[in-house]
Amino acid sequence: MAVSGEEFDVIVVGAGVMGSSTAYQVSKRGHKVLLLEQFDFLHQRGSSHGESRTIRSTYPEEYYYPMVMESYKLWEEAESHIGYKVYFKAQQFDMGSSDNKCLREVIATCQKHSVPHEILDRQQVSDKFSGRFDIPDNWVGLCTGDGGVIKPTKAVSMFQTLAIQNGTVLRDYMEVKDIRKDGVKGGVWVYTSNGEKFWGKKCVVTVGAWTTKLVKTVSGIDLPIQPLETMVCYWRIKEGHEDKYAIGGDFPTFASYGEPYIYGTPSLEFPGLIKVAVHGGYPCDPDKRPWGPGMALGNLKQWVEERLSSLVDSGGPVATQLCMYSMTPDEDYVIDFLGGEFGKDVVVGGGFSGHGFKMSPVVGRILTDLVLTGEAKGVELKHFRIGRFEENPKGNFKEFLHHVM
Ligand SMILES: Cc1cc2nc3c(=O)[nH]c(=O)nc-3n(C[C@H](O)[C@H](O)[C@H](O)COP(=O)(O)OP(=O)(O)OC[C@H]3O[C@@H](n4cnc5c(N)ncnc54)[C@H](O)[C@@H]3O)c2cc1C
Repeated sequence: MAVSGEEFDVIVVGAGVMGSSTAYQVSKRGHKVLLLEQFDFLHQRGSSHGESRTIRSTYPEEYYYPMVMESYKLWEEAESHIGYKVYFKAQQFDMGSSDNKCLREVIATCQKHSVPHEILDRQQVSDKFSGRFDIPDNWVGLCTGDGGVIKPTKAVSMFQTLAIQNGTVLRDYMEVKDIRKDGVKGGVWVYTSNGEKFWGKKCVVTVGAWTTKLVKTVSGIDLPIQPLETMVCYWRIKEGHEDKYAIGGDFPTFASYGEPYIYGTPSLEFPGLIKVAVHGGYPCDPDKRPWGPGMALGNLKQWVEERLSSLVDSGGPVATQLCMYSMTPDEDYVIDFLGGEFGKDVVVGGGFSGHGFKMSPVVGRILTDLVLTGEAKGVELKHFRIGRFEENPKGNFKEFLHHVM
């Protein structure tokens, strides 16, 4: 156990999936790492808990494509080190109106990167999925091979275990209150609310929905990252049809573009149920969570009834789970040096906007590169810079609404 005053090469603040993946990556390179978490490890009060997250390569912004492809490799590499599975492969099926700009950009990304894909009309969709999806005549379906489900809590635990195996020290119930530069010997001091302090040559801040608060305290910078409370819904598959929706068969992870953006996964965590939910939520203070009321379900019920061909009970979800998003105005991540007096000593990874989990291996690799070498290989960081909000409060310009999970 780390004792107050102890020194580290890198201190990682926040042990959700991003901090845990980063601790693993830094420790893998032989550095002495401390990972600090304000609550219990594997708690349910942030963004990285639960039973399923979608992984897919279908992004409208083509700069995410190489990142997700690297993540697939890194997921498999981590699984091979730990010896169990966190990633379950499936096809990915995207659907929407044929004039939906976002979906058209997704198709363009597939074409640009020569991703094997099929574009299907209503009849072809029905044939391909044996009647389990029904899209309107003016919609198209896009089918690719690189979908799947990641088990989030298990994946966070995997990264933490691998980090421990590499010598990382983990401490929970350690809320970081401040980070201060050591003007004499360099590096930073990290202060916790229970009166302990640790010195690090470098520090990585991965505090999810708390990013705006901690960054403001530490540096005075106002980051436009808005926490939202969101709700995952599970729906009952009608009796006799359960096997057709199980992971490992031909039922895909899926996304429906438009208002609202709806996403779902095959049956995995709760046999007989599938996850179908809306990308969105209501603003919240992560320290004063409303824990409800949940989200209006009218559109979602209608979608389940119409798009899932009446094979799933659309009367209402039989189970729900609350979680938090950290939204940036452009839904692009924040991955950057904190700058100012900290220069390149403190790196921030936040604002993952409801689509970060799949990328956590590559985000961990990038944060590690930045904190250890001052630059990240093979990634164009301009999309993720803090400074983009000074140039334009809405961040990166996008022609399409980005409702992507
Ligand atoms: C319902 C839901 C569905 C999602 N679906 C998908 C999906 O299908 N595909 C996908 O790719 N992504 C998905 N995401 C997004 C993904 O889960 C998140 O992007 C990711 O989990 C963010 O991880 P994080 O480490 O940044 O945040 P968190 O998991 O919140 O971790 C931050 C940690 O920092 C700790 N912390 C905060 N402040 C302090 C402090 N001062 N001191 C110490 N510790 C602190 C917190 O307690 C927390 O443990 C989904 C998210 C939700 C909520």
